Amino acid sequence: MPALPTALLLLSAALASGAASAAAPTPAAAPTVVLAGRLIAEPGEPSLGPHTLVIREQRLLRIEPGLNPAIEPGARVLDLSQATVLPGLIDLHMHLSTKADVDEDTYGSPARLALATASYARRLLRAGVTTVRDTSDNTGVTYAVRDAIDSGLIEGPRILASGRTISRTGGHGAKRAPSWHIPYSPAACDGPESCRRAVRQNIEDGADWIKLTVSGSGREAGGRPQAEPAMFEDEVVNAVAAARQADRPVAAHAHSTAAINLALRAGVRTIEHGSYFDDESVALFKRKRAYLVPTVFIAHHVASRLDLFAGGRDGRSADELRAWADAAKTVPGRAWRAGVPLALGTDGGPSFEPTATALEVGYYVESGVPLPQAVRAATVGNADALGLGDELGRLRVGHRADLIAVDGDPQRDVSQLLRMRMVMQGGRLVCLGDCDQAAPGSPAAEPAK
Ligand SMILES: [Zn+2]
Repeated sequence: MPALPTALLLLSAALASGAASAAAPTPAAAPTVVLAGRLIAEPGEPSLGPHTLVIREQRLLRIEPGLNPAIEPGARVLDLSQATVLPGLIDLHMHLSTKADVDEDTYGSPARLALATASYARRLLRAGVTTVRDTSDNTGVTYAVRDAIDSGLIEGPRILASGRTISRTGGHGAKRAPSWHIPYSPAACDGPESCRRAVRQNIEDGADWIKLTVSGSGREAGGRPQAEPAMFEDEVVNAVAAARQADRPVAAHAHSTAAINLALRAGVRTIEHGSYFDDESVALFKRKRAYLVPTVFIAHHVASRLDLFAGGRDGRSADELRAWADAAKTVPGRAWRAGVPLALGTDGGPSFEPTATALEVGYYVESGVPLPQAVRAATVGNADALGLGDELGRLRVGHRADLIAVDGDPQRDVSQLLRMRMVMQGGRLVCLGDCDQAAPGSPAAEPAK
């Protein structure tokens, strides 16, 4: 091999040590100043008067009372002095790559599904949802969309992905998978060893969370109040242990009382749906510091389409489904009165409008949760449930600058959450003015001819 010229050797050494990049530093991004007419720094607590926020490098640098456009020389100033600024909404239960109730043929390839997911993610962000936990996707598409958002390739909420549903063979989420889904059966959770392996495989694939289905769905016989859990205790315990070993929290889908309590005893972080929780559940939620994610939005949807959802093998009659939906709609209020830590999610996805999260806040209020506490569940409660309460869900110095702005006070009028005037995610301005305008897939957008 011929000797390299000295100059070239020096250059390659400089590149390896990083000296070349240090010689041409990238300039720090200019700070942004937000003038907020009203500020909700800690949802659930009273809205504050005018404040000025300084954002630098994705985070909140200063928060001061009053409106001071000159607080940071050279900064870009966003005048929201006629609006209310609050933390971005979080949705703790979505299926971004699952088209509920839509013919799978419509989305019959991973590529088509990825595009639909990416389009929906953009609309979600513009609806004020800055973080989403995806509670299962058997295709792997959500991982790709999550990573594309993280790297700035596309726009969308920060995604915490659960990957494939961990279910027993034939259990909820493991049925009727199209052939191009991640092959399911090798990772089914049937016995302690296979449950540990399924969890470890999900983590290897890229899961941030683990999702277990411990009961049937509200639409299935396995979701009845008195139904046996769909998994054995040693299966749930071992799945949770394997997740804990890798520092991943666990979300348990559970409707029946026995399934809820089994999952809580096993140490899951969140209970999804939780339709038939009882007094023992309440004590377990408090003792284990677990959160409830009621998902009233999907109960409304099922109740509005009984023709579609009633009957079928292992299904429930229209009367039973109506009774389940009625029970599910009361869950947030019952939980709040009992002192259960409340998070908030919709069970939504691309078949629904991206305002589902805001609607869920309204459903909490209908069930008896005071509006400020419902807004708190969608921000502070969700951030705490994610274990990210020091980063997200509140507006404090040092936190990530995920901010939204609305016209009025959403702690007095929930409908304000349906229309964003500004969305900022990690310090980056996503939209200002009418955020829904011209977002592809929104009613305002003209389809391409
Ligand atoms: Zn779900």
